[in-house]
Amino acid sequence: MQDRQRRFLNHQLMKMADEDPLTKLLNKRKFFEVIEEKLKILKPNHYIAMIDIDHFKKVNDTYGHLFGDKILCEVANLLKKYENRNIVISRFGGEEFILYFGETDYETTKLILEEIRREIKNTTFITITISIGLAPLKSEHNLIESIYFADQNLYKAKQSGRDCLI
Ligand code: GH3
Ligand code: MG
Ligand code: MG
Repeated sequence: MQDRQRRFLNHQLMKMADEDPLTKLLNKRKFFEVIEEKLKILKPNHYIAMIDIDHFKKVNDTYGHLFGDKILCEVANLLKKYENRNIVISRFGGEEFILYFGETDYETTKLILEEIRREIKNTTFITITISIGLAPLKSEHNLIESIYFADQNLYKAKQSGRDCLI
């Protein structure tokens, strides 16, 4: 095998290990790896947000699983636009996404999440909404605790009628 081919295949393999195959977002394992690294070097004020698509089961039941997959990709592509050095996005599993916000403040994080919520509602192929749970990632907490609190707030968002950020 030529060197060039070997390098290409190695690159492909590394990508496959880090990416969710459907959406091409970072997978959960890579997300943890990236954030643990960031927490070592970045200044305080970090946040974790959990996003869950509302009534996604109904989308699958109504239009079929393949169409559901397309919607997941559409949401992921929309989320990808927000990725930068301080915003890391991953498919956490199923129709759930996790976002890390670094070196920012609460108000800015909220504004971005509200923009994402509105954009998904207004631009996806069929109207879907998302619920969002936000939690600070304090120095005394670890990532797992923060995800737990974001998840609790996501649950509250669902309880509050969905299509909102708590
Ligand atoms: P809620 O508003 O409470 O979140 O309702 P929901 O229907 O979204 O929640 P539930 O957890 O009951 O269902 C999630 C659905 O997401 C069920 C599952 O079939 C679907 N799902 C998970 N992963 C995938 C996937 O990769 N592709 C497709 N098409 N559907 C998926
Ligand atoms: Mg879910
Ligand atoms: Mg859901």
